[in-house]
Amino acid sequence: MSHEGIRIAPKEHEEHESEQARSLPRIAVTPEKVRVLISEGKGVEIDWVDGHRSAWSFAWLREACPCATCVEERKLDGRKIGQPKAKPTAVLPMYTPPAKPASAQAVGRYAIQFNWLDGHSGGIYSWDYLRRVCQCRECTFAAEETTGTPN
Ligand SMILES: [Zn+2]
Repeated sequence: MSHEGIRIAPKEHEEHESEQARSLPRIAVTPEKVRVLISEGKGVEIDWVDGHRSAWSFAWLREACPCATCVEERKLDGRKIGQPKAKPTAVLPMYTPPAKPASAQAVGRYAIQFNWLDGHSGGIYSWDYLRRVCQCRECTFAAEETTGTPN
């Protein structure tokens, strides 16, 4: 007896670079606590008012920069939010340290901005944006399993 899970991946899996379609409840996009772990070199952790918790590494956040230049660059490369650039294969492997900000600051009450060590700082990461790109298992699972098959 075999249990076969037949899974049909939807072909038209559209990219939502700036998905503004559905609006999230206010408590889902209001941070209760924001931890920017610069000295640890880890990343950002946010506890949301609705009880959800999100965490991103700095490397991921750098590749998820929401500024127009980076969004365009990702689009041209066909990269998803947070996906690093493909390393050139022919070139000798060079060590590139993972992205890290020198500092970070709040932008009004709605966003955070990073001053990356590579000199970039144009991206304004709104709470809304960050919540939408939450990398927790629950959220990434929900994003991929948009078409659930009821048994
Ligand atoms: Zn950028």
